Amino acid sequence: MENKLIIYVDMDGTIADMRSAVIEYKEKYDSKKTDDISYLYPWSVPGFFSSLKPLPGAIEGVKKLAETEDVWFLSRPSFRNTTSYTEKAEWIREYFGYEMQKKLILAGNKALMMGNILIDDGDNANQEEFKGIWIRYDTDPFTDWNSVLNEVYKIKDQRRKEVSELYGDILGKNWKKSI
Ligand SMILES: [Mg+2]
Repeated sequence: MENKLIIYVDMDGTIADMRSAVIEYKEKYDSKKTDDISYLYPWSVPGFFSSLKPLPGAIEGVKKLAETEDVWFLSRPSFRNTTSYTEKAEWIREYFGYEMQKKLILAGNKALMMGNILIDDGDNANQEEFKGIWIRYDTDPFTDWNSVLNEVYKIKDQRRKEVSELYGDILGKNWKKSI
């Protein structure tokens, strides 16, 4: 089996358009009522996560990665809004299907996961301590999904080259013929 990269993909702000939804909630709900949870903390409202739209190119991009790599979703739930746990699973099933729903991990500490790449816009769940490579979505130059895919394939090529050189050193020039 070919070596697949283990890739974790964040949801909010990486594949799901949280920013637009927050703006929408804030425009819709009353800012004068200081206790209006829909205005203050829209992500605490049941139905918020279900309502998120995919970001441009995200669904196609993740599906393309999943054809060749071992792709998982790694999302920090909204802890005060426990319906977010269910809604995130439903969201993944809606856009990626049941098999990919099985690959959803909800965690408040993303550094605990072992893998090669984390694609994530945020730093609210120990992303900077992740042991692999963190592609920080929505920061230059990773402002769209095309640039993310290019980076992943660059990392993959680099890794292939390193492995090839390593085996070359160990087994000599004709190592490919010898195995
Ligand atoms: Mg995020």
